[in-house]
Amino acid sequence: MKIYDITAPIYTGMPVWKNYPKKQPAISTETNGHVTESRISLDVHTGTHVDAPLHMINDGETIETIGIEELVRNIKVLDLTKAEGKISKQDISSLNIEKDDFILLKTKNSFDKEFNVEFIYVAEDAAQFLVEKGISGVGIDSLGIERAQDGHPTHRTLMSNNIIIVEGLQLEDIEAGEYFMVAAPLKIQGTDASPARILLMDKM
Ligand SMILES: [Zn+2]
Repeated sequence: MKIYDITAPIYTGMPVWKNYPKKQPAISTETNGHVTESRISLDVHTGTHVDAPLHMINDGETIETIGIEELVRNIKVLDLTKAEGKISKQDISSLNIEKDDFILLKTKNSFDKEFNVEFIYVAEDAAQFLVEKGISGVGIDSLGIERAQDGHPTHRTLMSNNIIIVEGLQLEDIEAGEYFMVAAPLKIQGTDASPARILLMDKM
């Protein structure tokens, strides 16, 4: 069975949000010559991760409340590599998007090797369209699903309609189509996101 790993590697010096030094993971390793142990300090939005509503909604639900069966399921990868600047309703309204779908948006972001301040994001009108369609989740190949929108309306629109948001996917080698996804955030209690290992396989 072919397994596609669409997870970003985590290391000090990796691409992080706006290249802020405080967003870099810190990894320290101690050894006494016999036993080695590493310790890692990282933002929960590091690399490939799943957001929880608490990220943008006061009193919102936390990461462990997202059922694993909502993240281990069939999904659709949609080709949006021609989108410039942002994904608007017009870019997705003619695509095959149905109720309860979990969609992954492949854009030019997947070909960036460093954090690109002009990354392609999901515009508010596209988020509203996805709510009207009744999708279950949406993933994107940038560290944020939006930028340049006051008040974060894309996050708020999706989260307030229980649409799961996944960010930081690496879709460079993935062709558009249907796959089976295993997205497993760490079982951290009470936080607004968690890094996740995300794998795609042929659709079951
Ligand atoms: Zn995030």
